[in-house]
Amino acid sequence: MTLARTLRSVAELEKARLMPAGSSGSPVARVGERYAVAVTPAVAALIDGNDPNDPVARQFIPDVAELTVLAEERADPIGDLAHSPVEGIVHRYPDRVLLKAVHVCPVYCRFCFRREMVGPAGLGTLTPEELDTAIGYIAAHHEIWEVILTGGDPLVLSARRLREIMERLAAVDHLKVVRFHTRVPVVEPERIDADLIEALKASGKTTYVALHANHPRELTAPARAACARMIDAGIAMISQTVLLKGVNDDAGVLAELMRAFVENRIRPYYLHHPDLAPGTSHFRLGLNEGRALVEQLRGRISGLCQPTYILDIPGGHGKVPVLSPAVQDSGDGCFRIVDFRGGQHLYPPQPVSEPYEAQG
Ligand code: SF4
Repeated sequence: MTLARTLRSVAELEKARLMPAGSSGSPVARVGERYAVAVTPAVAALIDGNDPNDPVARQFIPDVAELTVLAEERADPIGDLAHSPVEGIVHRYPDRVLLKAVHVCPVYCRFCFRREMVGPAGLGTLTPEELDTAIGYIAAHHEIWEVILTGGDPLVLSARRLREIMERLAAVDHLKVVRFHTRVPVVEPERIDADLIEALKASGKTTYVALHANHPRELTAPARAACARMIDAGIAMISQTVLLKGVNDDAGVLAELMRAFVENRIRPYYLHHPDLAPGTSHFRLGLNEGRALVEQLRGRISGLCQPTYILDIPGGHGKVPVLSPAVQDSGDGCFRIVDFRGGQHLYPPQPVSEPYEAQG
């Protein structure tokens, strides 16, 4: 399917035959009212309309299952707000911060962990004053070695805006690495032009781009070319993938995806266990199912292709590698998890979502 522009509602998706006739008058229309919708021409072109289980459609086309919210799901699943000293900054780990300059994305993923914050009704873009305060915070905290621009998708910003941010970050001596998390090279590859690529670089800083892709079909020829343009310009690339039921919960699919990253000079980095975002239970596997899948990758594909399977501990306690001794199956459907500071938690969190306290 070739579209001229991004589709932004259930009605538009129905008209383009990306959703069944009658969708806009059915309960699924409420999903489109509740959560942001956007499907770019590049994504629409990837959707196989003849496959009711198409793994690309599943990631971007609203599903009535999103109206089912479980008790353990929460609006801020990884606890950004608990670690936000000033607007736009999340300071969860000592040596790095998130800089969330914008809460807009070129597409809206149905499983998004920040679905309550992104989109037209989300937290918007930092005002000039908020951006001043956020960069002031980075400059004032000498322990900050890395800034991660995320959001939202920072590559929706114009080259001029990105250049301004990078010039200001370049002036912070103690900062060494700037990392961008983005879907743009896959969902809007034509946006990655020479002007935008130059804007991502700053004197004295190393730039990384973390590409979010979940299925090998997303790495089309234009997407691969967009990544090659960045890498040829001196930008290092890593990958992040969310492990999603019905999309990539298959060792063969994961192997093909990780190999495709490496073939394109993108180092596999994280395979995320899906977060407890509202209305996303239809995407979540159990931790043991995820472990079994990742263990199947060992030996099957090169060490270069192995991602780290990671869980963001609900509530903002940081990431933990799922295959590490810090994650213990207690055998009753629960896991006992130790975070990087030594705090102990249950997963899934109990309804009150208080951290698990060790006995004795
Ligand atoms: S691109 Fe990232 S922040 Fe935006 S909707 Fe998808 S997962 Fe969420």
